[in-house]
Amino acid sequence: MDNAALAEALLTVAEALDFLEENPFKAKAYQKAARSIMEMGAPARDIIEHGDITTVAGIGSSIGSVLKTWVVDRDFSLLTDLKARLPHGYFEMIKVPGLGMKKLRTLHRELGLSSVDDLLAAIDDGRLAGLKGFSDKGIARMRRSVLDVIGYRGWYLLDAAWSWMETMIESLSDAGLSVLPTGVCRRGMEVIEGIELLCLDRDGAHDAVQSCLGDVPGGRFSRDGSSYSLHHPEKTPVKVWMEAEESLVPALFVTTGSPSHLEQALMLGERRGVRVSRQGVSHSGTVIPVKDEADIYALLGMPYLPPEVREGRDMEWKPGVDGMLGGLVTRGDLRGILHVHTSMSDGHAPLKDMVRAAKDRGYCWIGISDHSRNAYYAGGLSVKDLKRQGEEIDALNREDPGFTILKGIESDILPDGSLDYPDNILKQLDFVVASVHSHMDMDRDAMTERIVRAIRNPFTSMIGHPTGRLLLSRRPYEVDMDAVMEEAARQGVSLELNAHPMRLDLDWRLIPSFVSRGGRLAINPDAHTPDGLDDVRYGIVIARKGFLTSRACINCLDARTAKEALAARWS
Ligand SMILES: [Zn+2]
Ligand SMILES: [Zn+2]
Repeated sequence: MDNAALAEALLTVAEALDFLEENPFKAKAYQKAARSIMEMGAPARDIIEHGDITTVAGIGSSIGSVLKTWVVDRDFSLLTDLKARLPHGYFEMIKVPGLGMKKLRTLHRELGLSSVDDLLAAIDDGRLAGLKGFSDKGIARMRRSVLDVIGYRGWYLLDAAWSWMETMIESLSDAGLSVLPTGVCRRGMEVIEGIELLCLDRDGAHDAVQSCLGDVPGGRFSRDGSSYSLHHPEKTPVKVWMEAEESLVPALFVTTGSPSHLEQALMLGERRGVRVSRQGVSHSGTVIPVKDEADIYALLGMPYLPPEVREGRDMEWKPGVDGMLGGLVTRGDLRGILHVHTSMSDGHAPLKDMVRAAKDRGYCWIGISDHSRNAYYAGGLSVKDLKRQGEEIDALNREDPGFTILKGIESDILPDGSLDYPDNILKQLDFVVASVHSHMDMDRDAMTERIVRAIRNPFTSMIGHPTGRLLLSRRPYEVDMDAVMEEAARQGVSLELNAHPMRLDLDWRLIPSFVSRGGRLAINPDAHTPDGLDDVRYGIVIARKGFLTSRACINCLDARTAKEALAARWS
């Protein structure tokens, strides 16, 4: 278990204790321990196994021994017993926006509701009417959210799907098998229903796959002809297709692209006498051996299209697409990183640790942007805090002139479109990320006007998480993104591609339109921990899906040019 998994398990214990109204100090202690683990620079697992974890501030002896049972004995009974005492649909119910723990407890105790399905039935029967804390308007809104949550069933976020996919590939590879990811996981979709893998079918391969999948604790595996499926109650379903050596490349090609990309490819092939099927490739009836997918695209008269762009848009097949493909942004192109929180607001690590983490990852600059004072729920910075942080940044910049720390803020966009610091404060900063964090239920025109006003503020460098969506949890707010993109491009304000796997906002489908207007994007981790910087990997795949080239990406500039670009409108 890595630090993130340990912290998540500790938080689950805290949440369960909280819901069950057990000793509140105990729940707080688990929260504190989770925070300590998140803030650790080194793997907690090593200390738990070989040292004394209670030497870490915030972890006492009883939680220390719980950690030991998890890591050393692999005994999770505390967690499973606690989960068993929660309503059986608790983790789905808590995802319903506006249904906090207190309301959930009321619904469970007073009406016996244990799942979102129970909740939907109770709303439709009118059983929530008159219940303390539930207004008619709130109930109507809740019903829409409940239907959303039911619709999200069976879908997984990209990070969860990739992490499980990597675990499965590792275990199959350890068993001597050759495995390739394909389908939506290979294309890096933002939400995923299933993981598909292709496995080279050679002597003993079937037995090895069966024993690997059969060994997954809590998993249920089945065989269907030449494929195997693994279902696990908490993980993305996995399908493994067994492929003969000669059909591996065609199968990879056929199963990777979206159905419309494949349809377009097959049509293009037909015109050139090329047939591509899962079994193989032929030209005018003659079988053509292919060593990789580039060979197949060449037969179609196309450059190699990387998996993430194979979505079936016209632009994928346009002449000149190769010129764009070469410039698609890669992790190696990123010189700096923006939108990073520290423990001064709701981040979990102090400024110097976040800076260290950015240096360790090879970046040359970092832009710090804690929450602004309106975001009191996230420890937003007062003017005094901001000044203190600025001094700390100046000192660190003096210490290491080879690395640049930019001073910024993630300023709330207030309902009237203004930012929540006066101009004389904003102009002392290097950049301002303006984000909507409240009043998200405004109507479309009012929300569009609010964001457009924020874009017109001369101190705004970029709009954070432009649509406010939380994947598989909260819909984007109502906003005319065409008007937002138009105004942002006109004013030279960047849009964020928030790389947090729950956001991945700006949606990749909108990127080409924004860039074609001359707009620039920043791939931002919105990191709250040092490891959070690594979320950039999800941002990169989404950026590439949107055909983002390094030229239109703020992160690819050197520190001085980035600073100039971000503050161009007020310096
Ligand atoms: Zn934000
Ligand atoms: Zn943020």
